[in-house]
Amino acid sequence: MDVAADRIERLHDLARAAATDGNEDRARYYVRLAQRVAERNRLTLPRMFRRFTCDRCDAYLRPGTNARVRLQDDHVVITCNCGAHARYPYED
Ligand SMILES: [Zn+2]
Repeated sequence: MDVAADRIERLHDLARAAATDGNEDRARYYVRLAQRVAERNRLTLPRMFRRFTCDRCDAYLRPGTNARVRLQDDHVVITCNCGAHARYPYED
């Protein structure tokens, strides 16, 4: 694994840990850092990272706390507290 991908992985862990501690601003900070690393290195963010971050406000999403998850037909719809929806195919 190259250094940038490794760094993104670590930032993802940090964001998740901060979010679990209820520290949303700190989680957001790590999310943005990871996005910047990905951009600078022309990497695609890991799928799990994209699933659990809000496209609009960069929050690290925790279903049941700052996000709601609904199943709709064959899609999973995640709604962030900021009101943004993200929709993913169920099996993907
Ligand atoms: Zn949001």
